[in-house]
Amino acid sequence: FLALSNIKKSFGQTQVVHDFNMSIEKGEFISFLGPSGCGKTTILRMIAGFEQPSGGTIHIADKDQTRLKPNQRNIGMVFQAYALFPNMTVFDNVAFGLKVAGQPKAEIEKRVNEMLKLIHLEHLADRYPYQMSGGQQQRVALARALAPKPQVLLLDEPLSALDAKIRVSLREEIRMIQRQLGITTVFVTHDQEEALSISDRIVVMNAGRADQIGTPSDIYNRPATRFVASFVGTLN
Ligand code: ATP
Repeated sequence: FLALSNIKKSFGQTQVVHDFNMSIEKGEFISFLGPSGCGKTTILRMIAGFEQPSGGTIHIADKDQTRLKPNQRNIGMVFQAYALFPNMTVFDNVAFGLKVAGQPKAEIEKRVNEMLKLIHLEHLADRYPYQMSGGQQQRVALARALAPKPQVLLLDEPLSALDAKIRVSLREEIRMIQRQLGITTVFVTHDQEEALSISDRIVVMNAGRADQIGTPSDIYNRPATRFVASFVGTLN
């Protein structure tokens, strides 16, 4: 469904992604796991269209997206934190993409209410971001990303600014919503426990290459390299 073929990326002389290949099924939850600087965010940004690959192609549902601009792709994205529009209410934040798409007012209202229900924040529709906790803000960011019914959901460390307890409950909520909608999801994290607990498959990145692509159980029980073993904590 989401096919990354021979993807490469260089910034100047530095190659940060080396010939990456992966086929992601419709409805799969995929995590890119690795230390800072391994290239995971760069891959996510190429899927979104914020970066152009130096080589290779990106297909979604058999359509070549490689040269499309971000707004020409049917993708929803949630960033690390503080990415809501600060001067808009929760309702208007979630409505934003639908307004841009020119949907009729009644439909926008229906869809936004549906989304707010999904994240259990119907009662906070009139609040502004600064009046909410970090976890609530990230739920609104998720609703905003999902409202226009994207083909793919991209999550760039959406939990890393939250405290530990919220992080665990929100990751479970994200996974539940993802399953319920059956939306193909790519999640970037440097937290091995997070990746192991939430994913259908994990890509362990090491210096711009995938050391291993496998289920959480594969990665944990049968690490392909010493790097994978040490990163997921089975080797000390
Ligand atoms: P982090 O979790 O720290 O973001 P990451 O694994 O997501 O790490 P990337 O952000 O993909 O890593 O970065 C990979 C490498 O590419 C890093 O060495 C980074 O410095 C470099 N890089 C990323 N974006 C740019 C850019 N716009 N110009 C130059 N170098 C860049």
